[in-house]
Amino acid sequence: MIVRKSPAELEKMRRAGLLVWKILEAMKGLVRPGVTTLDLEVVAERMISDAGAKPAFKGYYVPAAGSKFPFVLCTSVNEEVVHGMPSQKRILKAGDIVSIDTGVQLDGYFGDSAVTVPVGEVSESVEKLLDVTRTSLELAIEQMRVGNRLFDVCGAVERHVTSNGFSIVREYVGHGIGTSLHEEPQVPNYVDRRNENPRLKEGMVLAIEPMVNAGRAETKVLPDRWTAVTKDGSYAAHFEHAVAITENGPLVLTRP
Ligand code: MG
Ligand code: MG
Repeated sequence: MIVRKSPAELEKMRRAGLLVWKILEAMKGLVRPGVTTLDLEVVAERMISDAGAKPAFKGYYVPAAGSKFPFVLCTSVNEEVVHGMPSQKRILKAGDIVSIDTGVQLDGYFGDSAVTVPVGEVSESVEKLLDVTRTSLELAIEQMRVGNRLFDVCGAVERHVTSNGFSIVREYVGHGIGTSLHEEPQVPNYVDRRNENPRLKEGMVLAIEPMVNAGRAETKVLPDRWTAVTKDGSYAAHFEHAVAITENGPLVLTRP
């Protein structure tokens, strides 16, 4: 069942979403050559506790990993797609890209958003990967309207990414979000005809999160049982927003 949120609930989700936005803005400001991904984690964790919120990822149990995720951020560098773990050993260098994904729980409601940040100067082809992934998310957000269907959202990402020659990760998908971090429905970044295609209704909130590979679509999980990487070693980009459907159109909860 897809839980629909009242305007009062959306107001709470907006507060959680704006905290996530604030954290990601701070992270963008910190990313530069020489910074470690653990440096980012330390600042993000402090911001979450200063706001009186709880991290959504730290302590989150994933059966496939067999453990609870130990950090407030997922930091995924270059060929890492998602679920990378902050580390003092991971020193960012010019030409890298780092996906920073975080979520918080505030007043009972979750926010979840991700951004991929270039470190110093990146190549033109990497710049294009970031642009195409970011734009595919914006095109999907535009589809978050009463009367559309879920496949309109999924298809908007798929069309833009494939027409630009990049690949869509299939193993990881977006999701509904509210009083749980992951709610129904699943939101693949492609039209999956095995799934239902529900009509979009006022009060639905989806975390839309295109994960796009410069090379082939296949991914694998590293022996740490968390970090997903592209099988061919190509770079991957990831952007995410939590978006509500309102009578006035899409409302992005994770940015002002
Ligand atoms: Mg998410
Ligand atoms: Mg996320």
